[in-house]
Amino acid sequence: MAEIQLHNTLSGKVEPFVPQKAGEVRMYTCGPTVYDYAHIGNFRTFVFQDLLRRFLKLRGLKLNHVMNLTDVDDRIIANAAAAGVGIREYTEKFVQAFFHDCKALSVEAPEHWVRATDNIDSMVKLIERLQKKSFTYDSEGSIYYRISKFPNYGKLSKIDVAGIQAGARVDNDRYEKESARDFALWKAPKPGEHFWDTEIGKGRPGWHIECSAMAMKYLGDTLDIHTGGIDLAFPHHENEIAQSEGATGKPFARYWLHAEHLLVEGEKMSKSLGNFFTLRDLFAKGYKPSALRFALASVPYRKQLNFTFDGLQSAASSVDRLRNFADRLKQTKFPAGQQKGMAARIAKAAGEFDAGLSDDLNTARALAAIFDLLREGNIAIDKGEFRQGDVAAVQKLLAAFDAVFAVMEDNDGEKLRALGYGTADSGPDDAEIEKLVEERNPAKKRRDFATSDRLRKELTDRGILLEDMKDGTVRWKRK
Ligand SMILES: [Zn+2]
Repeated sequence: MAEIQLHNTLSGKVEPFVPQKAGEVRMYTCGPTVYDYAHIGNFRTFVFQDLLRRFLKLRGLKLNHVMNLTDVDDRIIANAAAAGVGIREYTEKFVQAFFHDCKALSVEAPEHWVRATDNIDSMVKLIERLQKKSFTYDSEGSIYYRISKFPNYGKLSKIDVAGIQAGARVDNDRYEKESARDFALWKAPKPGEHFWDTEIGKGRPGWHIECSAMAMKYLGDTLDIHTGGIDLAFPHHENEIAQSEGATGKPFARYWLHAEHLLVEGEKMSKSLGNFFTLRDLFAKGYKPSALRFALASVPYRKQLNFTFDGLQSAASSVDRLRNFADRLKQTKFPAGQQKGMAARIAKAAGEFDAGLSDDLNTARALAAIFDLLREGNIAIDKGEFRQGDVAAVQKLLAAFDAVFAVMEDNDGEKLRALGYGTADSGPDDAEIEKLVEERNPAKKRRDFATSDRLRKELTDRGILLEDMKDGTVRWKRK
């Protein structure tokens, strides 16, 4: 197996990945702010970190992975107050939606989901530690972090801190991206809005302190990997480093991994351009979860991903090809023995698949290894050269592939129904089924497997199972 190499934003280099404790990975991912549905740009990052954790697990590492739910945020508190409900009540709908979306995209649950509202104590304690070391100052009931006290500020994002104005401060969670500012650790209460009454006064935590406190509470002072979208590198992650390292004097995270932006049809996604999509928007249009996951996974995480509907279609057909290939292997009885050279060919694909993912999670390279083998395998099968003795090795590689990419199981219909889509379609009637079966027969006769598989799939997706009989006839039944 190849040595795992990851790009570390901190060093700006691709480095060998070696966890602190052999065999174990402590990883933190900045989760969603639960005041709305997550969009496909968010899910690009969540699919990336899922691929990463799945690959590390495939390589035998034990994961201790924390993802947070930011349920304390300026907008959440203001919206909850405006709606006259508590924070938990206001965010619950979006929390559940996020969990359902993750399930639909086969994004595994981390070992710990943590919520800001459950960890206010840890945040207060961390702020007290920073107070004792003079990293903070008070102003109008809020507590700020004094950036000039932390000489390494800017080391992650390489932002130029020379221009910091002494005492210039910001207490919004979102502020302009170009300049460093003293940021709020703790914010004074606003009239009519929720606050916590604590040892450091009444108020609420800032966004940045949430992640520092929760990451260290569950993973210790130094994490192996911290992931997030590239837009979080500054100021959010820079501020996390300043807070955690200011308090502990130890490195906060050893490897920082950031996923690049997602564009839609070449443009920045925005509500005003009408190219803003949540998962639900796409599922309502009839796109499948597996196709979306494949599309998001297929571009290496450090490259910008240009999401297009053509790309989504071709992702869907790639998934179909994979599933059809797996079905062929499972359902066909090949002649006994092994095809000359095939074992070596499969081993080469397995090596290249592992080398691709080890190469800073180069998913495009890993996929190319699988699809090259798939194409050659299909040709061998078509020519009648493929042998039963090679089936297990190909299946083993496909299983390893799917442990990371998670698109092989034919469960899109089930997932969509669970989200309330696709229930209206009660399936085709008998005449329509017969028509599609008739259409498929000539394709089958001329060994046009692409067409016959596509028609079979079309029927399977609509709940109809086909069985090709030995005498050339076709039986069908409803699932
Ligand atoms: Zn965070």
